[in-house]
Amino acid sequence: MNKLYPWQSELWQHWVGLRTRLPHALLLKGPQGVGKFHFAMNLAQSLLCEKPGEKGYACQSCSSCHWFIQETHPDFRLLQPDILSAPEEEKEGAKKPARQISVDQIRALSDFSNLSSHQGGSRIVLIHPAEAMNANAANALLKTLEEPAGNMLIILVCHKPQQLLATILSRCLTLSVTAPPLEVSSAWLQRQGISNPASLLAQAGFAPLLALQAAEDSKAATEYLDFLKEISQPAKLDIFTLADQLQRTEPAKVILWLQQWAYDLLSIKLTGKIRYTLELTDSIINISKDIELVNLLHFQKELAVAKREAVHPLNPRLLFESLLLSYYRLTVHHVH
Ligand SMILES: [Zn+2]
Repeated sequence: MNKLYPWQSELWQHWVGLRTRLPHALLLKGPQGVGKFHFAMNLAQSLLCEKPGEKGYACQSCSSCHWFIQETHPDFRLLQPDILSAPEEEKEGAKKPARQISVDQIRALSDFSNLSSHQGGSRIVLIHPAEAMNANAANALLKTLEEPAGNMLIILVCHKPQQLLATILSRCLTLSVTAPPLEVSSAWLQRQGISNPASLLAQAGFAPLLALQAAEDSKAATEYLDFLKEISQPAKLDIFTLADQLQRTEPAKVILWLQQWAYDLLSIKLTGKIRYTLELTDSIINISKDIELVNLLHFQKELAVAKREAVHPLNPRLLFESLLLSYYRLTVHHVH
């Protein structure tokens, strides 16, 4: 668990003051991208921690903190729509993960509240974002709030409190998380390596986490375009420079890019169609016509192996060099 964002320390102190008079339900509301969920996770970890520090922060070293960090704490439940917990690959699959929090997810809480807590302390449920509960789920939650179980705290994180039932709102103690002042957000973004924080913040409605996300997305888009430019001219490919540049990108993403490129090379050969890089159709046709099918299949196998090992490559640059060298041999060997 990271520390709090710099703009959250005042709210944290306020919360620490409330800590001894815990309500049954707490609502953290505020605009998207200001760190409500992060704050709520810190709060939950701190409440479960066996020896929180002077300022109420979780110690990060007791067994409870270890469980929390590993997402296995028996006294903590995170309820969110499947779409937020499904891995990237599944999101693209045929069966779309749910965008709502279902009534079954809320009903499962009654079992959770009936169990005695593992540590003899609090049990905590975090619902994120609360407006994702469908009508049945919201009604089931209301029942739980009407007959609260001892020692169970329900934390609702919510960007759109107007979408929650008034009867739920009235049973929560509300903490507002607001967007920090411009200079605080700007300074923080600069520390994350963002050079134009003011304009990004303006576009993101002054929410620092949304501004950071936008910056990372546009950086990733540029890196992908640079990658395509290099890879689409294999005869000019500078393996070592490109491998060096690619180190800035997550290895799994680089391998996915290579896999998509290889897929298109194969697909144009077999079916005449391109799936991922339509804008480079001419290059794909040119490159693929000189490639031996068996070599291309071999390259795909190599990428599949690399993908499995890419979670923690010891040296991403070496991995990229070896994959790019294979690609180079695949595409350019006939020139010599
Ligand atoms: Zn701890």
